[in-house]
Amino acid sequence: MSNMDDLLQRNVRFAATDAKNRTPEIPFVPNQQLYVITCLDPRVDPAFIFDLALGDAIVARTLGGRVTPAVIQDLAWISYLHELRAPKADWFDLAVVHHTGCGRGLDDDALLRGFAERGGDDRALVDQAVFDPAQTVPVDVQKLLDAPLVSPQIKISGYEYDVETGLLRTLVPPRSRADG
Ligand SMILES: [Zn+2]
Repeated sequence: MSNMDDLLQRNVRFAATDAKNRTPEIPFVPNQQLYVITCLDPRVDPAFIFDLALGDAIVARTLGGRVTPAVIQDLAWISYLHELRAPKADWFDLAVVHHTGCGRGLDDDALLRGFAERGGDDRALVDQAVFDPAQTVPVDVQKLLDAPLVSPQIKISGYEYDVETGLLRTLVPPRSRADG
């Protein structure tokens, strides 16, 4: 008996609903025209904090919600597909969301040393840590605006999510490279 037994039962119940019938025709034109990048922390699930349904958003999750080369590569691919396959469709908004109470343990030198001794990349973790979203969100929004393969049509914005209040605070209002 594993956790998965219960989760597979949940899946059967989900499959019996009509949620899957309301998903977008073109996967990169999601119903709510949102592409969100956020932390893998379960307290920051975009489906809940943006009150989304299945098919409403494209979601990328990394440690801290940081914009990594892999995040940019995925977005470049989606940009390319959108331009090629759905040139007339409106573009999604892209939201970078970092949260309060993130980066736990990443300021603990002994913990980081132990990770490095196992062969982990402690330096990369420290570089990726989010202690203050007001510092890291603008950096990551700029990284996306500067990425040449990310479509200049995408409006990019940045937010802090407060895990205590459940509220988002705008740190960088939406803008695109096309706006200049
Ligand atoms: Zn986090």
